[in-house]
Amino acid sequence: MNAGVVYGIDLGTTYSCVARVNRSGDPEVVPLSGGATTLPSVVLFVGPDDYITGEPARRLARARADDVCALVKRRMGDGDWRFVTCGRAWSAPAVSSLILRALVGDAAFAGAESIRDVVITVPAYFGDEERRATVLAGQYAGLSVVDVINEPTAAALSYGFARFNSDASVAGRTAQEEVALVYDLGGGTFDVTVVELADRRVSVVAVDGDHQLGGADWDEKIALHLSRQFLDAYPDAEDPLDDSEAAQALLLTAERAKRELSDRAETTVGVEHDGHALTVPFSRNDLERLTSGLLERTVTLARSVLAAARTRGVTQLDRVLLVGGSSRMPAVARRLAAELGVPVELRDPDLAVAKGAALYGEKKAIERLVLADLVSRGQILDGAQPDAAAPEDLAAACRRLAAAFGLTAERVRRTVEVQVVNVVSRGFGVLALDRFGERSAVFLVHRNDRLPVAVRRSFGTVRDDQDVVTVHVVEQGGGVESTRIDDVKIIAQADITGIPPGFPAGTPIEITFRMGFDGILEVTALHEGLADQPLTVRVETSAALSQADVARERDAVARLRRREG
Ligand code: AMP
Repeated sequence: MNAGVVYGIDLGTTYSCVARVNRSGDPEVVPLSGGATTLPSVVLFVGPDDYITGEPARRLARARADDVCALVKRRMGDGDWRFVTCGRAWSAPAVSSLILRALVGDAAFAGAESIRDVVITVPAYFGDEERRATVLAGQYAGLSVVDVINEPTAAALSYGFARFNSDASVAGRTAQEEVALVYDLGGGTFDVTVVELADRRVSVVAVDGDHQLGGADWDEKIALHLSRQFLDAYPDAEDPLDDSEAAQALLLTAERAKRELSDRAETTVGVEHDGHALTVPFSRNDLERLTSGLLERTVTLARSVLAAARTRGVTQLDRVLLVGGSSRMPAVARRLAAELGVPVELRDPDLAVAKGAALYGEKKAIERLVLADLVSRGQILDGAQPDAAAPEDLAAACRRLAAAFGLTAERVRRTVEVQVVNVVSRGFGVLALDRFGERSAVFLVHRNDRLPVAVRRSFGTVRDDQDVVTVHVVEQGGGVESTRIDDVKIIAQADITGIPPGFPAGTPIEITFRMGFDGILEVTALHEGLADQPLTVRVETSAALSQADVARERDAVARLRRREG
């Protein structure tokens, strides 16, 4: 496809990557200048108007610690956080936009056509605010963010889940059901997700993980082992782990050894410190023995996410898909195969997320063209989804598009037919008085509820003749729902005003929560006395930036100049 390519971007915590679908229909990473496939997600501010990104910024991270912003993804959605440097303060979307700008600029420099329309990936556990912050980052970078997609879903698509870009299914037959466990072990985080294809929809069923667990923990275990060996050999020498530079060097040595042991069974490691040098033989068996506890922790989390999926009625498991550099350790696939008894697949673990986003981007591009075709023929209304069309009209539109772009009609039909949907990543509710008269959270929508959601619940006024009711919409703060007011985030607040007198305390207020596939929450509150005037709030999150801030930041980002490192 050439018309309106929608690129896929993996905006990662440590690395970012951009991909597209090529003419043969396969996703491929767009090389960056210098031939790299990924860009370190690091920004170095060198003055009020200049910055450097990527590898040169990462290299200077230690020397210019105060001016280097890394791991900004962890700050997305935190509206109060700012990176303060060179007399300016940057929000997380602003810093992220510089990474995106560098990524698309580099890709264009390396020969790709200019990139405008993109799909950006987000962790499945990202809430509404983090997703909005991600879209904002794209907008600051001058991109049109067609959609965001959950990382495990994108990874699954790139592994051929749901045969998203294949001709494999027979026309007219319902897509088969399929369930995958996506096991994503990176450098510093672990995410494990159950993804399901059912009823022509790909959705995340359950999410778990540990954001303090990753390849760096394996490195630490190895470094500790090496320092013990060193001290056994030289009992009077200083412990290399007691010296920050030596410890850093030992960790790098450990990481190198770990990577080598993914390809062979044995290696040797040199440790030099305090005037002594030791060569230690180190085998894959040693590595696996030292780190079995870490691997078991990931297996426990995998079991727990499968248990969560079972409570949602998803009992089948067809395959395990490995993502993240650390999943290259052979012990990972072996242990999971033994535990789960299903095929475990490892392919492009670092690039799978970006490639899957590109496949989803292609779907969006095709869908857009099919929709435009159907609308232009008056077969659906503007704004409707393809399934609103009569099946024969949809089939004809797919055939026309296929002919125009040299694709098979089956592929176009399948691409349009299979939908990617989300579950709710956090609970949402309102504040109400509990039976002790304390304000507490009442959740109407719960984590892992399937989108779209529509829930109604009745609350009562607290006073006779109450003329104003304030509705506070809240989002679950931590990993579990807690009714405590300190544990939730108020994301919107609005008043029902002008209630006429004469209504006693306890008069019902009907609250309805609706959340669409886009994750946007619409809250309606209706008081009996104002039956024809419901209060409607579309959630603009309070912790997000105000519109004025957004405009100011967008301008500030636009004025910045990128320097080569
Ligand atoms: P990267 O994918 O390079 O960001 O690395 C993420 C994590 O994966 C780091 O902890 C790396 O040490 C680890 N990693 C990358 N490649 C391998 C490999 N071949 N074997 C084991 N771990 C790896």
